[in-house]
Parts: sequence; C-alpha cells; structure tokens
Amino acid sequence: VIEVRDLHKAYDSLEVLKGVSLSAARGETLALIGSSGSGKSTLLRCLNLLEDSQQGEILFKGEPVRWRGTGLDRHPADPGQVIRIRTNLSMVFQQFNLWAHMTILQNVMEAPLTVLRRDRAEVEAAARRYLDKVGIGDKADAWPAQLSGGQQQRAAIARALAMEPEALLFDEPTSALDPELEQEVVRVIKDLAAEGRTMLIVTHDMKLAADVASQVIFLHQGLIEEEGPPEALFGAPKSERLQGFLSSTR
Ligand code: ATP
Ligand code: MG
Repeated sequence: VIEVRDLHKAYDSLEVLKGVSLSAARGETLALIGSSGSGKSTLLRCLNLLEDSQQGEILFKGEPVRWRGTGLDRHPADPGQVIRIRTNLSMVFQQFNLWAHMTILQNVMEAPLTVLRRDRAEVEAAARRYLDKVGIGDKADAWPAQLSGGQQQRAAIARALAMEPEALLFDEPTSALDPELEQEVVRVIKDLAAEGRTMLIVTHDMKLAADVASQVIFLHQGLIEEEGPPEALFGAPKSERLQGFLSSTR
C-alpha cells in the first residue's frame, strides 16, 4: 500500500531524513521506533504529503507521487493526487486534535461530509458504527472537553476510520495518556491490527510495537539503523545503538 524509496528531507540546512526506504503491504503493521529527533514524525508527515521531501520516491498503491521542481523546490505536482493520498492515509496524532467546537459525532462526520461529499445519513450511520467500535458510542453528543484523554484519542481513531482509508498512520497515539487510559487505546489499536488494517505506528511503547507490528523499524538520525520482525529486533538486537536505545526505554 505504501512504499518509500531513498527518501531525503531537510529543514533548510538540517538534514532530518537521509535516505529512508520502507514498504507496508496490505494488512501489515509497521512500528517506527527511535530516539527523540530521529525523524519519526517527519517521516509520517512526508508520507501523507504534509511535508515536502527533496529526494526519493513515495508510492501509494504502486502509484508514484508526481513531483515538480527539484531539491528544496520540489513539491507535489498534482493537488488531486495529494488529496487522494492524504485521505487514504489517515493520521492520528499524539494530541488528538479534535475540533473543540464540534461534538464527537460532528468531529467524526466532518471530513467524510466535506472532503468525500458523502450522503449525510450514511455518514452519520457509519460514524455511529465507528464510535461503537472504539467503545464510545454513548459519547456521540458530548463535546471533546467532556471526554477523558483515552476517550478523546479513541474518538480521533473513529474520525480517522470514518475516511475509510487504505492505511492509518499513528504518531505516538498513547504518549499523552496516563497509563490506565493508554490501555484503552492500545486495545483499539490491537483490534485494528487483528482486523488486518494496514498501519504505521510511531511509538515509544515497545510492548505495543512487539504486540502489533509485523515489522519494527529503528530510526537513528534519519537513517534506518535496524529493522526486522519484533522477535528479532527486541529479542536479539544487532546494532549497539538499538541495544542502547532499548535498555534506555526499559
Ligand atoms: P520525537 O520522538 O521527539 O517526536 P521525532 O523522531 O518524531 O522525535 P521529528 O519531529 O521528526 O523527530 O524531528 C526530527 C528533527 O527535525 C528534529 O531535529 C527536529 O528539531 C527537526 N524538525 C522537526 N520539525 C521541524 C520544522 N517544522 N522545522 C525545522 N525543524 C524541524
Ligand atoms: Mg515525533
């Protein structure tokens, strides 16, 4: 579903991604781990074209992103393609980013109505199904501020699902939550993995990565230092940097 080849990204003179390649097949869950500043969020943002990248290819379902210009002047050439890719790679952020002036139900319905221009009754029925699925069907008419962090994050996941995306991108979905609320969100993510959703999850939670990922990728200073199935990566890490990183997170 998603493939990246030799991706390079800089913010002015700061090189953040220095040639990253990865691919997520349908139904696969990739976990991205690495120290703060290693480029994990930047990689997710480049993937769904929230950020430009200067070099390398991004393919969505085998279709390469078309660019115009080169280097720091490289931008996606086709706005329609950008919208198509972005709506198919729904992002869930650490800070939920629910719209405070809309109820939970309105939050979930907004993008399918305005971006996909779907029928309101169908959108509402689907939104209620997704809220039930993440266990907060009873909160449809509440405001975001009335929900716990775990409930807000589950609402954000329902909102991402409502776009019926090809893949979900999670950026530290549990990092803003207290440990007991974290588990509610972990449960939902595990259910999605078990359903065969394609997901990319940036996480500091090594247990979550071990439980849901088919492939774990350790990013270090903008390069993939080591990757493999969780048993190998966590059970027998080869790189000293990864060994150091793992012992610091325990
Ligand atoms: P964390 O675990 O703390 O979330 P990360 O791996 O997600 O870290 P990124 O947010 O991708 O790291 O940042 C990688 C590098 O890029 C950092 O050095 C950061 O300061 C820099 N950076 C990120 N966003 C910008 C920006 N908009 N402008 C300039 N530099 C940025
Ligand atoms: Mg980050």
